[in-house]
Amino acid sequence: MTNSNALYIVATPIGNLGDITLRAIETLKTADIIAAEDTRHSAKLLQYYGIDTPLTPYHDHSNDTQTQRLLDKLQEGRSIALISDAGTPLISDPGFRLVVLAREQKIRVVPIPGACAVVTALSAAGLPSDRFSFEGFLPAKNAGRRARLELVVTDPRTLIFYESPHRIQDSLADMAAIFGQDRQAVLAREITKTYETFLSGDFAQLQQVLSEDANQLRGEMVVMVHGYSEPLADPERLEPDVETMLRVLLDELPLKQAAAIAAKLSGEKKNKLYKWAVDNKGATEK
Ligand code: SAM
Repeated sequence: MTNSNALYIVATPIGNLGDITLRAIETLKTADIIAAEDTRHSAKLLQYYGIDTPLTPYHDHSNDTQTQRLLDKLQEGRSIALISDAGTPLISDPGFRLVVLAREQKIRVVPIPGACAVVTALSAAGLPSDRFSFEGFLPAKNAGRRARLELVVTDPRTLIFYESPHRIQDSLADMAAIFGQDRQAVLAREITKTYETFLSGDFAQLQQVLSEDANQLRGEMVVMVHGYSEPLADPERLEPDVETMLRVLLDELPLKQAAAIAAKLSGEKKNKLYKWAVDNKGATEK
């Protein structure tokens, strides 16, 4: 395969070096330049696969000159492969500015798909995967983190967060406070690596495991949270207008008669209204 001139966005492994595609290896071998988040880190992967394409650093706080230098090379007809430290570039990783500017300048941008922690974690978590919301990293400060969690508290989709070991306990505590202790969640840790672990349970259970086992605080982690589910409707609950009607009737009539009239007027079952009246007798009596 010969690379034609383009900016290639190449996914690399998230732990296990075997998790790279044939097409990714070929693209990295045939590109003119590999732009990498951390050239020293990426050198190990490239060495493992016998790739000796020249490396140059690229991160999102790369100054405009550095970005422009890559764009100039692309305009000159060179091909550049962008990689990050792990997984898919641009997914909580550098590359966004470069892709936007390349597209603006009509440079071809070609994705070379592969590992990505969010999808890999979700694929084995056992949480609903038909709809999900990737929330990336939460803000580091408490107030910002809680405000962000409040925004998604009633989101019915599975929520996925990237997290770091030194913040995981604070984040789980905030999630428990905002989503409720009994919301189900899965903590996926060190995926594709030796100590790969999937912990599932409600927030109370996850917090307990982490407080009892310091090993669970190590490594890279993804937190997945079950989406919001409407609480089950209470079969004994009355619509507010029916409840008001029944209360008024109970002020004037015996219980059985009040229930019968309210049933006729509202279409509700007489037994249900009668039971409600009995259960709430104290509250309805003057
Ligand atoms: N671009 C990467 C991707 O495609 O997933 C993500 C890069 S982001 C800077 C790093 C975060 O991804 C980690 O803090 C962790 O939340 C998650 N992550 C990456 N590798 C992981 C792994 N092997 N196991 C669990 N989480 C991982």
